[in-house]
Amino acid sequence: MSELHKRTLTELAAGLRARKFSSVEVVRAFLGRIESRQGTLNAFVSVTSGQALAEAAGADRALASGGGGALTGVPIAHKDLFCTRGVRTSCGSRMLDNFVSPYDATVVARLKAAGAISLGKTNMDEFAMGSSNENSYYGPVRNPWNVQLVPGGSSGGSAAAVAARLVPGATGTDTGGSIRQPAALCGITGIKPTYGRVSRFGMVAFASSLDQGGVLTVSAADAALMLREMAGFDPNDSTSVEAPVPDYVAALDAPLAGLKVGLLKEFFDKGLEAGNERRIREALQVFEKLGAQLREVSLPNLPLSVPTYYVVAPAEASSNLARFDGVRYGYRCKEPRDLLDLYQRSRGEGFGAEVKRRIMTGTYVLSAGYYDAYYLRAQKVRQLITDDFRRAFAEVDVLMGPMTPTAAFAIGAKTDDPIAMYLNDIYTIGANLAGVPAMSVPCGFVAGLPVGLQIVGPHFGEARLLNVAHRYQLETDWHTRVPQGYA
Ligand code: GLN
Repeated sequence: MSELHKRTLTELAAGLRARKFSSVEVVRAFLGRIESRQGTLNAFVSVTSGQALAEAAGADRALASGGGGALTGVPIAHKDLFCTRGVRTSCGSRMLDNFVSPYDATVVARLKAAGAISLGKTNMDEFAMGSSNENSYYGPVRNPWNVQLVPGGSSGGSAAAVAARLVPGATGTDTGGSIRQPAALCGITGIKPTYGRVSRFGMVAFASSLDQGGVLTVSAADAALMLREMAGFDPNDSTSVEAPVPDYVAALDAPLAGLKVGLLKEFFDKGLEAGNERRIREALQVFEKLGAQLREVSLPNLPLSVPTYYVVAPAEASSNLARFDGVRYGYRCKEPRDLLDLYQRSRGEGFGAEVKRRIMTGTYVLSAGYYDAYYLRAQKVRQLITDDFRRAFAEVDVLMGPMTPTAAFAIGAKTDDPIAMYLNDIYTIGANLAGVPAMSVPCGFVAGLPVGLQIVGPHFGEARLLNVAHRYQLETDWHTRVPQGYA
């Protein structure tokens, strides 16, 4: 059974149900891979082997008696900002290094209820702030395609783990690209659903009006299977939307003839490297062959996304992170002199540099005298960007474009220049500001490194996105490629 890691999540779920192999065998196989690769990739913060094996034995009993849910016995992993009862939730921060949640996030609870087994918690940029996974308290994650390179961020641990087949699927969150960008740089599939589609209850908050949970998997079919179990209204999250969840799996095969595809004009700009552009254009030809009609669409305010996001997101972060004060939970400094010293040193020692930069920026743009000039103006531009998307989706079914300007870059290459790092998010952030769903699909390689195609849909268009991605993956095999040494 040494080949179990080669099976996709969908194949594992079906094989377990047909009792071709047991959950204990599957879980053992993936745990073995995690153990042997963790030293190189640093994709995990915690591995919960004992618990996973006990749950696997339970899953095998359920399957033997004809019970279980859609994912019974299937191993997954959670980004370490989803609260997991009894298991540390660090959020990649010293601040939460000792934090064990007393409850499960809704996403965690739902996947558990569907029978999935968590193998552990994946490494990430501290409080999900980053595009390279170099901001973790636990050290950088490495890209399995080349360990000198970043995997992307902030869900870089989840992306690296899936790309290296240490786990067949993992959760992630996307505030400004953190599912799609690492999925692209690691050569896997990732989807950020519509804002409000997946409950944020129990997800450590970064920027509440932008944060959205989603999945990183090998294929769109796998993403459909996982997302179907995760999505839906949650009374514990007032921003989750009370709309029925379509059967994403059943919708995968619909033909694409007549699909209207808009090419995001503003994304084919001078920042896009020629090799990446070539891969995107080749992918577009596949869609034409499948019967899609392509036309260029302009979203004129989209180039304002990065400056808008880097006002809105830090503003919300500065407010959300005010709760970490060394009093109730999380890191507390040693021997505080008085209350003020307790606050200052706990936060000063508990947070890393990027988190502090965001808190300072956010506090500044929200301060009296600057609020109108920065925060309020950013909110107005956000509305313009949202209107751009609405207008575009009146004309086309989906939008397509590049996911990242370049393939993965070297660890350390951009750490001294936060602005250069923020510019990585140029193609991802618009979807978050507008709250629309978007996904990344592997579409080839440049100099041996994976490139992702971005597909964006209208609000609650996940079924169509997954269908479009799935049909593409039936025609191509980029998503099946595994980095050398990980086959
Ligand atoms: N790279 C972006 C940032 O640093 C997005 C992060 C995210 O989506 N969580 O804020």
